[in-house]
Amino acid sequence: NTKEWQQQDASHHLHPFTHFQALNQKGSRIITGAQGVYLEDSEGHKILDGMAGLWCVNMGYGRQELVDAATKQMQQLPYYNLFFQTSHPPAVQLATLLAEVTPAHLNRVFFTGSGSECNDTVLRMVRHYWASLGQPDKQVIISRHNAYHGSTVAGASLGGMSGMHAQGGLPIPGIVHIDQPYHFGEGQGMSPHDFGLARARQLEEKILALGVDKVAAFIGEPIQGAGGVIIPPDSYWPEIQRICDKYGILLIADEVICGFGRTGHWFASEGFGIKPDLMCLAKGITSGYLPMGAVMVGDRVAKVLIEQGGEFNHGFTYSGHPVACAVAIANIQLMQSESIVKRVHDSIGPYLQRRWSELADHPIVGETRGKGLVAALEIVQDKGTNARFPASANAGMTCREFCFNNGLVMRAVGDTMIISPPLVITEEQVDELVDLARRSLDLTAERLAG
Ligand code: PLP
Repeated sequence: NTKEWQQQDASHHLHPFTHFQALNQKGSRIITGAQGVYLEDSEGHKILDGMAGLWCVNMGYGRQELVDAATKQMQQLPYYNLFFQTSHPPAVQLATLLAEVTPAHLNRVFFTGSGSECNDTVLRMVRHYWASLGQPDKQVIISRHNAYHGSTVAGASLGGMSGMHAQGGLPIPGIVHIDQPYHFGEGQGMSPHDFGLARARQLEEKILALGVDKVAAFIGEPIQGAGGVIIPPDSYWPEIQRICDKYGILLIADEVICGFGRTGHWFASEGFGIKPDLMCLAKGITSGYLPMGAVMVGDRVAKVLIEQGGEFNHGFTYSGHPVACAVAIANIQLMQSESIVKRVHDSIGPYLQRRWSELADHPIVGETRGKGLVAALEIVQDKGTNARFPASANAGMTCREFCFNNGLVMRAVGDTMIISPPLVITEEQVDELVDLARRSLDLTAERLAG
């Protein structure tokens, strides 16, 4: 029963990214089941999951193919590791399949258990790469303010969330941050094109300030997810690629959210025309059914690691867990058989973007934006100036609460509302999502006016 669950939860469970005291006072929502794009809570409410869990349940809930793959693998070989020259068929098959579906120059994979572990892995891998080339001083990784790269020490350090840095003395040395390409929030008065170029050129300025001989790599999410679905102007990524090429520094794309069809491409790097040396994958790789991460390693890096790197002293007990690999294989095959990426690119993505953009006429919406099946809108008090409501009004959280109570999961990042629904969402369900979002915005506007 809900009350008992809430009490026990509050007594014994410290939740991630949660204000512990607030949870104790209010009680958690208990999700008990899910099917397709809908969640069910312990009170029997049906809720449209506009976030696909945490941007991961791409193929939707209740896919029997994934359950069967896991069951079969658990019976055959529930666990074995990949350390010390051992392997197993699910890891071999998944590595081969990933080399096929990712861009042509990415032919090798290092398995992890999560997106955060991917970012710990790339930090060590790029430093090891440069050391193997006899340049051990090339250590610095350049990232962006307001980036999210996970919650481990390296992940949170690579990330640019000030709230995370404030706890635990982060970032660790050798990581620096430049500004993000957030046009709505930070680029007013400039054209998106010029703003994109200006933000990308901060990378060049930083490389020159630090010295090329000190810089190992640049890391970025093609579209920043947790930072508020920040879609860079078209000028941004080509300029980043040009700068990385000019100075020979490695480019790391964190595609933990953007990968596996979210933006209407298998990988968002393809859509933005960049060629990352390393690519971090997780979440949608198994549609979230089991924890799994994968670092795709490009030919340039792999060659050095293999020929000059010796042993890479790094790995996780659950790197390439056989059951997670089996589910990932079944998930990717499902994506292929249902042509899901084409569907996001050609039909359901454009449909969602068209319907979502209609919310721009709402009195408290300053901008809508999106790509494929990820989108955001900005809540403002004044549409003319895009001035925000006072922070004390908690506009985003207010809207989020109205959404939840009306049967929609929509996430708030400050006063930016974001969605990232399962890729299997139908047009009727998109209509329902947009209608629920509008109703919640109406209620938010009413509450904030009153
Ligand atoms: N990188 C990005 C871009 C993410 O969005 C996330 C999680 O949201 C991570 C890394 C961390 O992944 P995980 O939570 O699986 O460790």
